[in-house]
Amino acid sequence: MKKVFRKLLTIEEARQVIQQHFKAKPLGVEEIPLIEACNRVLAENITVPLDIPPFNRSTVDGYAVKAEDTFGAEENHPVKLKLCGTVNVGEMPKITVEHGKAAEIMTGAPIPEGADAVVMAEHTERKNGEIYVYSAVAKDENIMKAGADMKKGETVLKRGQLLGAREIGALAAVGLAKVNVYKVPRVAVLSTGAEVTEPGKPLTPGKIYDINAYSLSAAVMESGGKPVYMGVFPDDEAEIEKALKKALATADMVLTSGGVSVGPKDVVPKTLGLLGKPGLIVCGIATKPGKPTTVALVDGKLVFSLPGHPTSALFIFHILARPILEGLAGLKQEKAYTVKALASTRMFPARGRRTFIMVNLKEDELKRLLAEPVPVGLSGAITTLLKADGFIEIPENQQFIDAGEEVPVHLFKRL
Ligand code: AMP
Ligand code: MG
Repeated sequence: MKKVFRKLLTIEEARQVIQQHFKAKPLGVEEIPLIEACNRVLAENITVPLDIPPFNRSTVDGYAVKAEDTFGAEENHPVKLKLCGTVNVGEMPKITVEHGKAAEIMTGAPIPEGADAVVMAEHTERKNGEIYVYSAVAKDENIMKAGADMKKGETVLKRGQLLGAREIGALAAVGLAKVNVYKVPRVAVLSTGAEVTEPGKPLTPGKIYDINAYSLSAAVMESGGKPVYMGVFPDDEAEIEKALKKALATADMVLTSGGVSVGPKDVVPKTLGLLGKPGLIVCGIATKPGKPTTVALVDGKLVFSLPGHPTSALFIFHILARPILEGLAGLKQEKAYTVKALASTRMFPARGRRTFIMVNLKEDELKRLLAEPVPVGLSGAITTLLKADGFIEIPENQQFIDAGEEVPVHLFKRL
């Protein structure tokens, strides 16, 4: 068996190598009903086909008037106008409002000819066919003009946008029943390790529950992909090879965790080298965490083999695999948010490796933002990420970050 030698790449070199081998572009477009489009990525620019609202409409229940007829109206000096009709929602008014007249109007109904403002019902009184107006209105008051929401011809949503409740509302407003979205990349997720047990099954001595398949599947969904759960596999070459082949046959990308270190049971890299061309393209990166991260390209599909430690696996997914998946999903990549904070304590990098330190943000007595490392004593703990607001990056050639030094903190959550 040929030994797999490891040349650790910097994170930038690893990204470059992946980019050289693989173009992360959307997998295709499909037209789907708008009602099913939540969490999908828009594959077209949306140009508004008509003014929204399509007509000048009242924003209140009240009386459509000529504004100047109400000038001078006050609590003690009402202006009296003659009722000239009613405008209902859903139909074009047939009446014209002349001087000295007022038309009853509903919220959302079109403004009748002649009127240029609406008095709220609350500021009026109706007495034997006359409307007493107790408060003056200015021209255009309580009227939403045609096109005030969206103008015909305007681009309201752009390709690459993730569709949520607000975007889908905007698409419904312009009358779209169907929408073009990108195909969702399928990402096979599999865990390795004899100790790893599926949640829901009894935990026998020496075993732990599978965290990575779940946290990574959720991360896939957050990045616009559809996770395909493959299961947990023992550290056995033949079994892992079979599982990887099945994963590659069913998905557009594969994530594995565990079994990439240098232990005798870490058989994933060797197996990846046997599956197809070009095989292994990244065999370890000079980072902490994430050193054993392995990436292979097998017949046009990427396999990211992440470290077993749950925090490392999720973190490396975040900085290395996620941008690729977002590219496949067609998701316009948002800039990661960064805030400036003061290091709460001196922080050291691991020798010769880009070091990422998970930190909490908090304020000191002077209301300055402090970045405090999440205790790393428990390096296998998932709670490290749970407790962290973001991370600090220390370059490999830097000696340390001093207490009180200002540092950029990359946030996990978008602000
Ligand atoms: P490995 O890289 O396989 O040596 O795993 C490193 C550490 O992560 C070991 O303590 C494993 O038990 C743990 N680990 C590996 N896979 C998982 C998983 N899917 N869920 C939780 N912990 C894991
Ligand atoms: Mg293992």
